[in-house]
Amino acid sequence: MPAARFQSGDSVMGRWPGSNLYYEVKVRNYDAKTRLYTVIYKDGTELELKESDITSQTVFKQGVTRSRSRSRSRSRSPARTRRSRSRSPARTSRRSSSRTTEAHRENIKEVLEVRLTPVAVQHENNSNSKPEKKEEKNTATKVIEKLETESENQASGRYNLRRRKDLCDGKPAELEKKEEELVLSQSKLPAAIKTTDLEFGGRVGVFLLIVLLPLAVLALLILCGQKDASLKSFPLELPPLQSLWDCQVFGIVLLWLLFQVVLSLLPFGKLVEGMPLKNGKTLKYRINGFGGLVLTAVAVGVAVYQEMDLSYIHTHFLQFYTSALLIATLLSIYLFVCSRWASYDELAPGGNSGYRVYDFFMGRELNPRIKNFDIKFFCEMRPGLMGWVLINFAMLLAEMKHQNLENPSTAMLLVNGFQLLWVVDCFWHEEKLLTMMDIVYDGFGFMLAFEDLVFVPFTFTCQAYYLVNHPNDLSVFWIATVITMNGIGYYIFRKANSQKFAFRKNPSDPAVSHLKTIPTATGKSLIVSGLWGFVSHPNYLGDILMCLAWSLPCGFKHLIPYFSLIYLITLLVHRNARDERQCRKKYGSAWEEYRKAVPYCIFPGIY
Ligand code: NDP
Repeated sequence: MPAARFQSGDSVMGRWPGSNLYYEVKVRNYDAKTRLYTVIYKDGTELELKESDITSQTVFKQGVTRSRSRSRSRSRSPARTRRSRSRSPARTSRRSSSRTTEAHRENIKEVLEVRLTPVAVQHENNSNSKPEKKEEKNTATKVIEKLETESENQASGRYNLRRRKDLCDGKPAELEKKEEELVLSQSKLPAAIKTTDLEFGGRVGVFLLIVLLPLAVLALLILCGQKDASLKSFPLELPPLQSLWDCQVFGIVLLWLLFQVVLSLLPFGKLVEGMPLKNGKTLKYRINGFGGLVLTAVAVGVAVYQEMDLSYIHTHFLQFYTSALLIATLLSIYLFVCSRWASYDELAPGGNSGYRVYDFFMGRELNPRIKNFDIKFFCEMRPGLMGWVLINFAMLLAEMKHQNLENPSTAMLLVNGFQLLWVVDCFWHEEKLLTMMDIVYDGFGFMLAFEDLVFVPFTFTCQAYYLVNHPNDLSVFWIATVITMNGIGYYIFRKANSQKFAFRKNPSDPAVSHLKTIPTATGKSLIVSGLWGFVSHPNYLGDILMCLAWSLPCGFKHLIPYFSLIYLITLLVHRNARDERQCRKKYGSAWEEYRKAVPYCIFPGIY
């Protein structure tokens, strides 16, 4: 049996599983049976590695130094540079590509070395005290991994050379820039970011979603508006076209969007930085949603005072729906077309499969912007969430009108109050949205445009819409029950989200420093006590409890008011699975350890 090459206590370089990244690790022991070394990373992560994934520090450094000096000697030769530039464009591109491939590989090694050194220092200092740097390192590591994969997989030499400039390999900056432009112009869409892991059933699945989701919401609205809202009485014929379309309504929806755009551009509210992007940079966002909500409330108040009849929204609800649907679809097409000009750095990891229908649905570009106006961030909150509150209020007025009430019913007040609390809370904590999966991971395509502009304002209002024609008296006991349920749900939802946000911002924050954590190799830690030790997505649990409390005031005569609850459970269970997959990729064994300690995802003891 071969003897172990490395001994317990040796400091060596260990490859991070599934990548080409080497970190400094200490050998703990060697299992002669499995021929695996147990090594410990600087952040405390223990892994078992094969001998081929371990190299001594001296050999590793020599390898990097050799590749560096090769890179320098090549790049210092002005003759080579001149020669390649004087050739015909076709030949230049080929030569330049292969040269670039080599130089690129070498540069990646340099980046690896440059980036790995501070990682070690950071951990030695205090792994928890510099969250931003760690996040930056994590992003940089991903960029390096992506570039490394790119250089391995591509023969055509289409590379993003931005990092070469950072490394200053001795070429004049102008030449460097020209080369960068030349190579980038050869590759409008880098294949390196190709999405291979398709979600939602791939192309067929998303095609069905694009067709069926709008029809399902239309069916829901038709049923909700009918006297008999039972599923059995679903009309088999579609309503006449004129009941689905009205140009004036379309104009109102456009005006609403424009009004919200103007409010979002008002220069008040703080400017904050989002999460680091693939290239390590961050985007700036203006946080003034709460102010926008207050100004919208004032505008609506003035309109009602001027005797504007808001119950118009109720009587034209289907037309509002089709107008919003048309706008969301047109916006998705615009986003899809514009994404052709997006650079490698700007693409979303999940929406670049090369299949048009899939990418249209998932969204190709991560943060599409017109100058500083971030379209996704705007749509996530403003028109949909404020529209939701406005529609609810319109339904409250419509209920009073249709049922000749002097005051709105208790059920309607509860639904309006609960949902208003949720929306106000969202705007109050607007900054926290920047860490959400939608912003950090998902591209902006039909999925989010439909969800933000159509699904949220037209399905989460279905309880209020239902109550206009289906009064439901509530006993004091029932009122107390639903208020308590909403309170508990809100407490869990808010506390969990705030804890995670505070922890990600600064783990030493006194508000969260008492929580038990599991370190991960990326430098970030995972909370394993408190709410995040109860289930792995306590915020989803809170959200679902609240959603249940929004439906209960509608009673149990029909299933329709529970549509948003059924949908939310489906969405969050699916979302949980997506997040689980991503976290497993990001955190490896640390995530497994976390999930061992916290086995349930959303519902303790059930799921
Ligand atoms: P989360 O806010 O739960 O974010 C998930 C991320 O949190 C993970 O990727 C990981 O990212 C981090 N994380 C996971 N576990 C831990 C842990 N133990 N300790 C520290 N960090 C951890 O998910 P979403 O973005 O999906 O949801 C945000 C909110 O929006 C939720 O409250 C959700 O209910 C709500 N929502 C509501 C919807 C609705 O229609 N009502 C729809 C969608 C969402 P990392 O480690 O990289 O920080």
